[in-house]
Amino acid sequence: MLTLPVRLLAVSKQQSLEKIRALYAKGQRAFGENYLQEALRKQGALQDLNIEWHFIGHIQSNKTRAIAEHFDWVQSVDRYAIAKRLNEQRPAHLTPLNICIQVNIDGEAQKSGIPPKATLAFATKLTTLSRLNLRGLMIYPKRGQITTFLHARHLYDALIAEGFCLDTLSMGTSEDYQEAIEARATMVRLGSRLFSQ
Ligand SMILES: *Cc1c(COP(=O)(O)O)cnc(C)c1O
Repeated sequence: MLTLPVRLLAVSKQQSLEKIRALYAKGQRAFGENYLQEALRKQGALQDLNIEWHFIGHIQSNKTRAIAEHFDWVQSVDRYAIAKRLNEQRPAHLTPLNICIQVNIDGEAQKSGIPPKATLAFATKLTTLSRLNLRGLMIYPKRGQITTFLHARHLYDALIAEGFCLDTLSMGTSEDYQEAIEARATMVRLGSRLFSQ
């Protein structure tokens, strides 16, 4: 069996500060949050740690400034208007904001994400936004199957073939991370399973 490097994002929504500190003490550095107010509160209380914060929730346009100021990554970008605001609001003293395009890989209705067919055009449009650093794609299917994850991997490889310099395919949760890794995810996002240990 081939071992591939996969980054672990610890999804800490609804988890206590103590549990976050315990994981940090074991060496975990990347944490993901879905809700801005909750995340800001935790960031304040964990200022003494060197955490890489990822925003992975739905983005409302009135929240973009705080997100651009307080996160290292935003994985849930799926509207140009939001990307444009994040770009404008990223503080000058910080490095460009790392982002992923959220793709609605299996076309579920009422689900966030860019349709797969529109991803290349969307990625191309983002290249004009110099305060954003496009790192890759994020998908969050309801129950991820290997075929879904392979579809995402194909899309990711196609963007690289088009000349995009990407290193992040973020897919797989507590329920389906094994299938995601099989399809060569570069980052899995684990919440419940990781924190229940
Ligand atoms: C909550 C969440 C996860 C983690 O889900 P678990 O089932 O707790 O592992 C991953 N990605 C996103 C976008 C989430 O909102």
